[in-house]
This record gives sequence, structure tokens and C-alpha cells, in this order.
Amino acid sequence: ERNQHLLGKRVAPVCSKVCGWCSECRAGRTRLCPNTVHLGHGQGWGERDFYPGAYTSYVPAWGASCFQIADHVSFEEAATMDILAVCVHVAEQGNIQPGRPVLIVGAGPAGNGVAQVALTTGASRVVLLDRSSVAIAQAAKVGTAIDTSEMSDEEVDTALRQIAPEGFGSVFDTVGTAKTLDLGLTHLGKAGTLVNLAVHDEPIQFNFLRLGSERRIVTSCNFEIGDYPKALAWLESGHLKVKDWLTHVRLEDLPPLFERITRDPEEKPVFKLVVTPGSF
Ligand SMILES: [Zn+2]
Repeated sequence: ERNQHLLGKRVAPVCSKVCGWCSECRAGRTRLCPNTVHLGHGQGWGERDFYPGAYTSYVPAWGASCFQIADHVSFEEAATMDILAVCVHVAEQGNIQPGRPVLIVGAGPAGNGVAQVALTTGASRVVLLDRSSVAIAQAAKVGTAIDTSEMSDEEVDTALRQIAPEGFGSVFDTVGTAKTLDLGLTHLGKAGTLVNLAVHDEPIQFNFLRLGSERRIVTSCNFEIGDYPKALAWLESGHLKVKDWLTHVRLEDLPPLFERITRDPEEKPVFKLVVTPGSF
């Protein structure tokens, strides 16, 4: 296995492995490899007695895609690397245009992370919408947070138009409903890109005239390996801040918490959970 020099070091492993021989891999689009296997869920492994997970102190990882982490980055922060790399790729898909504002519809960890990457790569400002007070509290640390839970559609429109009269250069929709698509397109500026992060199996009526003036709608899938060291560098440099995201929970306390979360999905008592299985 490669990267022998990392033995004994603190590393962040890429939690997926691609095949390397399919047409997507060979074209440099490994994020679209149909033969990808993941640590932590069963996809791609086929029928097995055992699927590798990560809820334990030590796990085997693929050496070729381990990255050493700086001493000042905690294991808990590094545990968010998968979603941070996804955020880097999402932001690339959204074509952040330096000097233009960015709108995030749905400010969970993905939306929050994309907002931070957008600011790092030149967005003039970020505006984050959500209905959850937990998400809004986190969003307010990153940019302009708008709690839409008690606002009418017209009030949201007016607020966004005041902030960005010429529209946003990029819009990231982490909700993906007909309503959020409509909102995003309404406020997408000329030559702007709307990224749909939550594609649903649902027909949506659509007037193509709304894509006039070179507006684009795109999706995003996983991340490319090069996005990972980029995300790690920005985590280490402090451009990406995740410490405040984290709620720590011991593995044995997880089942009752899951029960609480699934009982009332609207309640959202935590922003991002870090499960600490051992003594770390
Ligand atoms: Zn492949």
C-alpha cells in the first residue's frame, strides 16, 4: 500500500474508493464512478456478511487516499472532511464569481459549508435562508442569515431584492422543491448558476424563458479527489470553520438521540453530530 510514511500519523482518510478502470474514472470524473465503495454504508460492496463502518476507535482505510492533518486540527474537526470536500465541489459546480453575492437556500451543514467556500473563493457576500433556529444561529456566524420561518413569500422576496437588486451570481438550493427552485430562479442574476443539491423524483413545471441571459441550472455529485486536499488546506488555514457546528455524543448515547430526532424531524436539536466511540 502507498503512503507508508503516514503510518502512525494523524490522518483524514477519503471514505470512498473508486475503481479506476471505468469510463468515468478514465476520463477524470472519478466522482461519477458507478463502482464506488464507501466506508460507513453498504453501497457498492454487493452482498457481504460485513460492511466496513467507522463507529469505532480505529478503522482500516485506503492508504493512497489518506491525508495528514495539522496538529492544530482536532480529530472531531477532521471528521467533517467528507462534507467539506463535497462543499468544495458543490461550490465549483456553482461557478462562484468574484465580487458577486451568493444565496444559500437551506443552511444545514452543506449549505453552511458551501457559503464558507464561496467567501473563500471570492463571493462578495453570502445570504443564507433557513427555518430552523439552530441553522440560523450557525449561518449568522458566516454571513447574512434570514430566518424565513415566520416570513411570507413576499417578505422573503423583498428582503432578497434589497440585498441583491441585480440577483445573485450563484444560488445553492439544498432543499430542491418546486418552491425553492422558483425562489432561486427569481433571484438568480444574469449568467448566474443555480446548483440543485437535492434532486427529487418529482416533476416540476418549468418555463425555460427563466433561463434566459445565460442562467444555468446544474447538479453536483460527490467530490473529485483534488477537492479533498483543497478542503483540508482551508480547514487548516481557518477559512473553513466547523468547531461550532459540532455536538459531541458518545456512541452509547446515540440510539436515544436518534429516536428523538426521528420522532420530530422538524425539531432539529443539533446541527452536526460527532460520535466519539473510544477515548478520543
Ligand atoms: Zn470507476
